[in-house]
Amino acid sequence: MSTQKRTVIHWFRKGLRVHDNPALIKACDTVRSNPTVYCLRPIFILDPDLLKWLKVGANRWRFLQESLQQLHENLTKINSRLYVVRGNPTTVFPKIFENWNVVQLTFETDIEPYSVKRDNDVEVKAFEHGVMVYQFASHTIYNPQLVLQKNGDKAPVTYQKFMSIVEKIKVSAALDVPEKLPKATIPSNDSEENQNNKCYDVPALNELISDKSLLGPRKFPGGETEGLNRLKRYLKDTEYICTFEKPNTSPNSLEPSTTVLSPYLKFGCLSSRLFFHKLNEVLKKNPKHSKPPTSLLGQLMWREFYYTAAASDPNFDKMIGNKFSYQIPWQENKTYLEAWSHGKTGYPFIDAIMRQLRQEGWIHHLARHAVACFLTRGDLWISWEEGQKVFEELLLDADWALNAGNWMWLSASAFFYKYFRVYSPVAFGKKTDPEGKYIKKYCPELKNYPAGIIYEPWKASLNSQKEYGCVLGKDYPNRIVIHETIHKENLSKMAEAYKLNKQLKDNVNDTSKKRKIENPKSSSKKMKK
Ligand code: FAD
Repeated sequence: MSTQKRTVIHWFRKGLRVHDNPALIKACDTVRSNPTVYCLRPIFILDPDLLKWLKVGANRWRFLQESLQQLHENLTKINSRLYVVRGNPTTVFPKIFENWNVVQLTFETDIEPYSVKRDNDVEVKAFEHGVMVYQFASHTIYNPQLVLQKNGDKAPVTYQKFMSIVEKIKVSAALDVPEKLPKATIPSNDSEENQNNKCYDVPALNELISDKSLLGPRKFPGGETEGLNRLKRYLKDTEYICTFEKPNTSPNSLEPSTTVLSPYLKFGCLSSRLFFHKLNEVLKKNPKHSKPPTSLLGQLMWREFYYTAAASDPNFDKMIGNKFSYQIPWQENKTYLEAWSHGKTGYPFIDAIMRQLRQEGWIHHLARHAVACFLTRGDLWISWEEGQKVFEELLLDADWALNAGNWMWLSASAFFYKYFRVYSPVAFGKKTDPEGKYIKKYCPELKNYPAGIIYEPWKASLNSQKEYGCVLGKDYPNRIVIHETIHKENLSKMAEAYKLNKQLKDNVNDTSKKRKIENPKSSSKKMKK
């Protein structure tokens, strides 16, 4: 027993990468400082209970499985491996702290409430076992807690305000860019028995999903190497980077018009900081380029903006108790929700998007706009929380902070308040795809409908429908609502809800003003502090 080495654990959760991973580097440095004493074990904990309740669709499980496999391969290149441990972190850790003679634990910080609680619990266990814990914020370009602190412990609620704060924060260099990785090779000093122990192998796909028929085409394979290669491909296209303007990209092109780096950023297969620095290198060499908020750099800043806001509110993904969200009396309607989430609303543009999402796990940002507006304030008057849940299951890039933040935006519940700007489920898609090629791909039953009518099949006579081989109500659904009338009714409901929210806010402000007047002593004391 006395000859057992002291183990340093790096715990992967997100941040599934070897490049620009400060917590992993901290662990490697400790081992390198005295390889005869320390050994490194990078671990990933797979909690079988989570498999049961987590809302993760088959495509995302596959992405995770591939990311773990690539991580294992990349760790092998630096003389280590990935140890996948099965169990619940709070019960797994005390066992491995003892059995592996652990002295140090490193990991990347996370802002999600579930993770914050889990990490606090693990830290307590580590303390009880005399294990030193080091956490590093590296999932975002800026540490959300630092941004909050710089804004007087409040979240900036506009993008402009956020940008004015981060302009003054220096972004540290992206550590160990991939080309330099072999330099970081650590001594292979774990016992051969452990290095080869099959019980720590990366799970096969059938450990994660029981029904393979739910898998769609593998358009975006998971993993660090994939993410880095994808970034490299885009960076080479200087013209694309410098002229990128989000509103000019297309929601319904057959191949993505934006980078699809989001799943790689979500799992941390790609470092957002590396993305940021590499982008800036290109932009510096080409001073004539697009600017935030619509530029590519501007897109990355939206991610930072939402992360900062989310870090300040554990109820960010709920309407009630959420300090950002307006309270809106959404309706429950299981039939509508089911039709929307399975691409059966009778609006071909909306249905094509939702089917692409279910099949492939990624849809364009403006396509997300269209379906989110349709579900909430535009047409179906269903809560953004319901849409968020469907996205959470189906998106490869599903992210607690970004999903909630954007759903609040699109439902005009927070951050965006021009609720009267409603997307037309007919006209919006026509602008970039007048012939409806995108619709034909994802709603093939409509493939014979001509350009003039494919966005509005209800305008075809029964004879024409028969001629096109797709009769509404039989081969393709009748539309579930009439947009032309329903969106106007919803506008009135939004106006009413905004009025009530404003009154509520005014009442709260009046009460706190009144408190200050009634109790001037306590407030002056506070100010002196
Ligand atoms: P690009 O345009 O190439 O942008 C590069 C990167 O910038 C993205 O990978 C992403 O990390 C970031 N980014 C771009 N737009 C946004 C944005 N509006 N908010 C935050 N970050 C942004 N994005 C997620 O990553 N996860 C989600 O769960 C998610 N849910 C969304 C829900 C709704 C209702 C809407 C409207 C948007 C949502 N988004 C989400 C934001 C955005 O749609 C995606 O990040 C983007 O479409 C990903 O494609 P891309 O990588 O090609 O983006």
